[in-house]
Amino acid sequence: MILLKKAADLRKWLESQDKERNKIGFVPTMGALHPGHISLVEYARKETEITVASIFINPTQFNDPKDFKKYPITIEKDIDMLEKAGCDVLFLPAVEEIYPDGAAPKKHYDLGFLETVLEGKYRPGHFQGVCMVVERLLDIVKPGNLYLGQKDYQQCMVIARLVELMKQKIKVSICPTLREADGLAMSSRNMRLTAEQRKAAVTIYHCLSSIKKNIKPGITNGLELVAIAMLEKAGFKIDYAEIADADNLTPVNNWDGNQKIVALVAAFLDEIRLIDNMLLN
Ligand code: AMP
Repeated sequence: MILLKKAADLRKWLESQDKERNKIGFVPTMGALHPGHISLVEYARKETEITVASIFINPTQFNDPKDFKKYPITIEKDIDMLEKAGCDVLFLPAVEEIYPDGAAPKKHYDLGFLETVLEGKYRPGHFQGVCMVVERLLDIVKPGNLYLGQKDYQQCMVIARLVELMKQKIKVSICPTLREADGLAMSSRNMRLTAEQRKAAVTIYHCLSSIKKNIKPGITNGLELVAIAMLEKAGFKIDYAEIADADNLTPVNNWDGNQKIVALVAAFLDEIRLIDNMLLN
């Protein structure tokens, strides 16, 4: 695996390979890698000829400075995992390489309704920061295929919208969430949990599974309330536990039995914020 830190060097290397855009697969990450990230590399390897991964902890998407400061860093292990997974190139830029003119927003991305609900509502500015970094990374890597995890359901929708706004021909592949044996969605933030918090954390998965098992046409808010009660009992502070339209994230309160729906949860154990989701039909 080649490790490059400068955008110009990555461009030069990619151009020297003389591949069409659709032969390049890209997996953007913030590092502290786990098998969920590696599964994206595996999808990219299957479908493209050159797999580029990036590790960049993007300061502009952290609405909470404490969360940014405490974001786990395990770079040696990450490099080893990517190498073993057969990743071709790791792009590991410094902040100045991604934001040469400073990290202040240069424009507003029109994300519409998507930015007003769920993560958009509870993490103001977060998706603008995500768009800033992903647009820059896509400009540098110029992939034909982009691999994202369903774990960040709303982020996948935001990035699909960004690709549309950029008028780029990039295929966005949304890959399934990898889970621990007990069902907890793998996440870099899980490594910050104490043993006790780790035990409690799986409640998110139990809530989502219980919503999926019990959902039936009609009023759905009872299921959300049960989920909130379960999470509170396990020690969570909840941002949201909601059922929404899987295609546009509008809230669903009275399900007709046909609409494609998803349950989404965001909740804190102490200051560690975990998110997860599950398609319900
Ligand atoms: P992050 O490093 O958290 O920014 O995540 C980088 C990419 O990995 C994003 O597309 C995430 O959705 C994806 N990802 C994170 N956790 C998982 C998981 N458990 N399973 C599959 N993909 C994941």
